[in-house]
Amino acid sequence: MKKITILIPAYNEFLSLSKLYDRLCLLMDNQKRYEWEILFVNDGSKDKTIDVIKKLRSIDNRICYVDLSRNFGKEIALLAGFDYVTGDCTIIMDADLQDPPEIIPEMLKYWEEGYEDVYAKRKTRGKESFLRKNLSLLYYHILQKTTRVEVLENVGDFRLLDKCCINALRKLRENQRYTKGMYCWVGFKKKEILFDRGDRVNGKSSFNFLSLLSLAIEGITSFTIAPLRLSTIMGLIVSTSAFIYMIAIIIKTLIWGDEVQGFPTLIVIILFLGGVQLLSLGIIGEYIGRIFNETKNRPPYFASEYNGKKLHK
Ligand code: UDP
Ligand code: MG
Repeated sequence: MKKITILIPAYNEFLSLSKLYDRLCLLMDNQKRYEWEILFVNDGSKDKTIDVIKKLRSIDNRICYVDLSRNFGKEIALLAGFDYVTGDCTIIMDADLQDPPEIIPEMLKYWEEGYEDVYAKRKTRGKESFLRKNLSLLYYHILQKTTRVEVLENVGDFRLLDKCCINALRKLRENQRYTKGMYCWVGFKKKEILFDRGDRVNGKSSFNFLSLLSLAIEGITSFTIAPLRLSTIMGLIVSTSAFIYMIAIIIKTLIWGDEVQGFPTLIVIILFLGGVQLLSLGIIGEYIGRIFNETKNRPPYFASEYNGKKLHK
């Protein structure tokens, strides 16, 4: 019998868990020809999430869990999940039921047909602020234009991955992760299906504007060096025009002599150049920061417990 794992990262989700479990039970009972495993990754929740998971495990042994030693963020929680899943394929979904489990049978159908990465594309995005929605669309557009790897817009982490994709993803062990880009980077046979994204059942999104911005920068800096090239190009343009301007000034002074003029021009040029330099330094800094963090070569996370077994003892 083939084994299917459902991988669910959970951070402060204890209100949604029982509802989630009910929906998943419906699904699993309808698909008896598979063996099921639900793997929760408790990402250092500050509420009773881990207790609820443990209680669920005591009544249903299809439920497994990894307990991380602190909150590492969703991207790392997913990596921890990849390390502990045991199924022939893995379905990633959010704990807040924004990803409807009802389309999982369709994913499984395509998997049986031989597709290795069946991802769900959002037709609608659920309740979300105007700003978040449009910035996110603009962002995907820019990312798409600057990387050679295709990063799909309106596709989140809700997807089915064959064991071969999971094994590949396990090998990508960078600490600052942009998992959405990695699915595309590892390749394999992909298939798209469409769904309507629901609203969160309980609580609120743990991603605010700043954390989304930092994820966005992660996405750019871990998949493209285009911004570095941009600052080179900007530097070239600015210095070429400065050079031409200099020649013009020298000629002008030689012919008409010098008078004290052009103070505003001077200030504008100084400020503009200063700005460009700071921007370029910032961009370079982003990349150096990444190099710094990755060369420390730390393990991306520590797990304190797996299915009741204490780790790192
Ligand atoms: N999540 C996590 N660690 C975090 C933040 C979130 O594991 O530090 C999980 C969360 O429990 C949920 C999923 O990631 O299952 C998506 O989170 P959320 O609903 O807050 O994000 P959104 O749907 O707004 O993108
Ligand atoms: Mg959500």
